[in-house]
Amino acid sequence: MSSPLSLPDHLCEKLLEGNILRNQGYRGRFAPSPSGPLHLGNLRTALISWLRARICNGTWVLRVDDLDAPRNRAGAVESFIHDLTWLGLHWDGPVVLQSQRMGLYFSFLSCLRFHGRLYACRCTRSLLSKENPNGLSQKIYPGTCRHLNLDWGCKDGRLPSWRLRVGKDFFKKSGDVALRRSDGFISYHFATAIDELTLGISEVVRGEDLASSTSSQLAIMDALEQDRVRYKHVPLMLDSKGEKLAKRNSSKGLQALIDKGLRPYDVIGLLASDLKFVPTGATLSAQDLLIDLKKSNNSNPLIGLEIAS
Ligand code: GLU
Repeated sequence: MSSPLSLPDHLCEKLLEGNILRNQGYRGRFAPSPSGPLHLGNLRTALISWLRARICNGTWVLRVDDLDAPRNRAGAVESFIHDLTWLGLHWDGPVVLQSQRMGLYFSFLSCLRFHGRLYACRCTRSLLSKENPNGLSQKIYPGTCRHLNLDWGCKDGRLPSWRLRVGKDFFKKSGDVALRRSDGFISYHFATAIDELTLGISEVVRGEDLASSTSSQLAIMDALEQDRVRYKHVPLMLDSKGEKLAKRNSSKGLQALIDKGLRPYDVIGLLASDLKFVPTGATLSAQDLLIDLKKSNNSNPLIGLEIAS
């Protein structure tokens, strides 16, 4: 058993601020990565997340996950802002950019390292795929470097990744999560977990393709001895061939529909009818959809009013 984590005052304050916000009411977020424009599936998830926040008279934060700089595309953030505004999905407060929060992530990281919660790992991807022959477990790190006490410096031109020694319960679910990658970048799991806590997010709504990330993010929250955030993973939107939309397949974004002459109420109608909130062919604004759902005591599992309590 490791001793309780003692964090410096400024980090305790950040966690406390998050807890206070979370206790004031529902706080949701939409957190796209600027690797390209949003496709309709991303926008459908944004709509669900926005509706859940608004039904509860809560807060909806727009965060941009832009830490993986090589994957960022010029103009992507501007296009997110345009698309959400055009659809009437307005967020609260300033847009949060992860790239402007590096100091926070590195402070938590140093603290975890100082308290012996991390270890250096020199496993490469190819080594891991050899060690994990069973396809199912490939993503779960088997703990190879956990007890090797490897040094933190550069060796053969490579830095180690920094892994969190997760608790017993998480070892099989998430494995020891990499918090800093071997290329020096803060990992998605770490930045995301720190953000949910310090931004006071009460519920994460995201696509079900990210459901497998949850245990890694919960393992980090546990390591920081914080309460868990609630998660809701929503089904992905499929194209006419039944395949999931993806930015990398250049799935159609909003611009293609705007170019065809569609207006915001057409697109909201399209997304809402795809979710079976309204009949096919309906046209309505995001605000009207919200009002309708509030009035109808909607029992749809995606927007159930259970969250309002
Ligand atoms: N930024 C991630 C993405 O666009 C999503 C992060 C999340 O919702 O946890 O895939």
